[in-house]
Order: sequence, then C-alpha cells, then structure tokens
Amino acid sequence: MTIEKEPSTQVFQGYITKRLPHVLSGKGCNIVVEKDGKVHDDILDAVTGAAVGALGWGDEDILNIMAEAAKGHTYTFPSLIGNSQSEELSKFYIENSPKGAFASALWCCSGSESNENAMKIIRQYQLERGQPKRTKIISRELSYHGFTLGALSISSNARAEQFKDLLIDQKETCLKMPACYPYRFMNKGETEEEYAARLVDTLEKIIIDNDPTTISCVLVETLPGSSLGTAPPPKGYLSGIRRICNKYDVIFMVDEVMCGTGRSNPNGKLNCWENYLTAEEAPDIQTVGKTLGSGYVTIAGVLVGPKILDAYAEGSNLVIGSHTYASHGFNCAVALGVQKKILANGLTKNIFEKGNLMGEKLREALMSYDNIVGDVRGIGGFWSLEFVKDRDTKEPFSYTVDVGHRFQDVCFENGVSVMGMQGNIDMVSGDICLLAPSFIITDEDVDNIVVRVKKSVDDMTALLK
Ligand code: PLP
Repeated sequence: MTIEKEPSTQVFQGYITKRLPHVLSGKGCNIVVEKDGKVHDDILDAVTGAAVGALGWGDEDILNIMAEAAKGHTYTFPSLIGNSQSEELSKFYIENSPKGAFASALWCCSGSESNENAMKIIRQYQLERGQPKRTKIISRELSYHGFTLGALSISSNARAEQFKDLLIDQKETCLKMPACYPYRFMNKGETEEEYAARLVDTLEKIIIDNDPTTISCVLVETLPGSSLGTAPPPKGYLSGIRRICNKYDVIFMVDEVMCGTGRSNPNGKLNCWENYLTAEEAPDIQTVGKTLGSGYVTIAGVLVGPKILDAYAEGSNLVIGSHTYASHGFNCAVALGVQKKILANGLTKNIFEKGNLMGEKLREALMSYDNIVGDVRGIGGFWSLEFVKDRDTKEPFSYTVDVGHRFQDVCFENGVSVMGMQGNIDMVSGDICLLAPSFIITDEDVDNIVVRVKKSVDDMTALLK
C-alpha cells in the first residue's frame, strides 16, 4: 500500500478546512499571533483564551514556580498516595472563602470534569444519608456546564441539542427551569426583585410538580458566561434559590468555572456568589476552573461544603471514584502559586475596578450604536455585548449573518482579541461578544480595549450595510 498524502498536521478542532490562527508568544496582556501567514504582534488579549488567563501571559514568577514544581514532582495515583500540594491548595481556597462555606476540595483537569464530579458527589451524598430516591437535578435553560456527556446533560444550548440522543434523560433526571436573562425575559414594568421572585416561584413549582422527595440538587452558574453572556442575576434571585433549596432539603450548587476564582468579586474575594449571598447562604457545593490555574496548568475543582462532607464521614467514609490525574501535584502547586500571587498583589480588586471601568466606558462608547449593540452587561472582569438589529425591538440578527463570529474576526484585525459567539453554533441564544481580560490590566489597557472594540463596531456596522 502506498501513502499518497503526508499525514495532516491539523488538530481535529474548529473548522476542518480553515486553519486556525497560531499563537507565537505572549507577555502580560499582549499576544503575538500568526494568521494566514501574517504576524500580528500587537494583539491586546481582552478575553484571555476563554476567560482563563488571570495573571496574563509569560509571568516570570509563575514560570519559576513551574520550574521548581517540576524538579520535585513525582506522580502518585490520588486515591493511593496523597500529596501536600493538593492539600495546600484546598486549604488556601477554604481559608479564603467565607468561614464555614467549604470543608474540602477535589482537584481535576477541566470544568466539564468538575461538574461531572460534582454530580456524582451529590448523588453519593444522597445515598450516604439514606435518600436514594433523590436523583433529579434541576438546572437552567440556556446554560453551559461543559462538554462531557454528564455536564452536557445538565446544560441547555445548541450543543446539548446536537447530542441530545446521548444525554441523561431530560424528563426524568436532568430537569430544566427557566433561564435567568433579564435583558430578554424580564417583563416591561417588572422590577428586578419581581423578576427574581417570578423565577424562584417557578423553581418551587417545578420541585412540587416533580415530587420534592425525589429532587437532589438545584444548579446555576452564578454569573452565566458562555450560555447567554455575563447576565448578572437580579436582586434576590440567588438568595431565593437558597431559600427554596433549604425548604425542600435540596442541595444548592453553583458553577463558577468561568465567573469565579477572582474574576468578578470585589476586595480580594474568591467566589462570585459573595457579590450576592451571605456566608450563611453559601452554596453546598461549587465548581471552579479557568482562572484557578490561569492557563499555566490544566486544573479545575469542586469545593465541597461541610454538610456533604459530614454525610460522607458519618456514612461510608469513602469517596467513590477518582481520575488518574485528580489532585495532580504539579498542577496544584502551580495553581497555588497563581492564587497566592493574585492575592498578594491585590489583583482581584484590580480586575473588579478596571473591569467595571471597562464596562462603563464600553457602555458609553457604544450607546449610540442602536442598530447593532443591544446591551452591554457584566460585572468586574466579565462583560458582554449583545448584538441586535434594533435596540428598541431587540430583534436578533439572523444566524446566517453570523455577526458574533464575524465581529471576533473584525476585532482581531483591529488588534483586540475577544470571543464572538452565535446561537446556532455555540451555546448562546443570540450573537454575543465576550470580554474577560487578565486581572493585571491597566487604565491604558482599558482605554485601548474600548477604542479597538468601538472601531470594530464601526467596521462591523459598515460590513452589515
Ligand atoms: N462551566 C462553565 C460555566 C463554563 O463556562 C465552562 C466552559 O466554558 C465549563 C463549565 C466547562 O469547562 P471546560 O471547558 O474547562 O471543560
């Protein structure tokens, strides 16, 4: 047999016949990217991959920590032999969260895995405390919790739809409640509190209609990112869910893979829910990822609250299941270095303030573009633009126009990297542009992002004519 063609070097990712741009290097908030043979050496990274790069690129301190961690690194299988690095990271996260919120942590390699793990931890919790009938998980429409089959089963978006035949039963086990999407679903004249109460009442009705003694968990992204674009929850929404979970003895879980670990919280706080909930209202379990390792290592995790830990301790005393690379010592050591540096340098405060400044400046700069920009929303270092044909009617663009992805390309040509998303292909409901810069951004970076995004809106407007 003769091989007629050289094997392709293309990674099985993205468009098959379109070559992705290649990153050549990165320093701070800037990346150098080769695209179609041309080197772009002045790209301001306003989305840090997918809201990942908290510390920016090429951080010397972290590179040194990596070198040191690699020297001492010896791999062990986590359920046979433990390591101090994973324990220290757990201690750090627990100590820097409100007192009593979390009691233990599991470290894995991706946000999808963290949600898969959380689903199993919650299931075992119900078994440990003698509630085997509690199998049902209620998550939201227009949500994203990852791309593995379990995580996709608790999601609701175009991707979940594509793979629906492989997913866990959506009528019996993975139930859905309405999305929390004030821009589109809050009624005219309704206050934030009224909208929140309406959603919480609907959740209670779903619980009652589906036999409360069979409900295991209610799950939300504290601040949804890839599902409908950084829509902050209305006042009273998360505390209302907490109240309902208490009332029906149901686990309250939050997914903070994208919005958490310092991305959108004031004053050095780690968790996004601290914007909206008191320590007493803390979730029972939480997943994290992305900024935890800031892109230097592949790490995500599950923070487990005392209620769950106690049920295990008083029950079988054994966590069932583990992944080969869970609690990976090298990953945990580097993530701890990242988090300690963020804390020592007050970088969550920096991103909260500079991110809010960026959002306000974008709002101001794009106010007059009412035939393309419908909404500018977010909090801290997590913002979105939602594109519409008409700001008054909120009519979305047809998916065939593909504004989200085209806008991403236009931004790239103008020297700013953002993430464009489009409802039919990605996870969102319409066309969204996501911004999630690194925690080290300066006032000058903020101004440059705003100028380049505004120029891109001008260029996109011209393209749509
Ligand atoms: N959960 C949320 C809220 C996310 O936004 C994502 C990814 O964007 C995930 C989970 C999945 O994380 P990963 O892509 O690391 O598997």
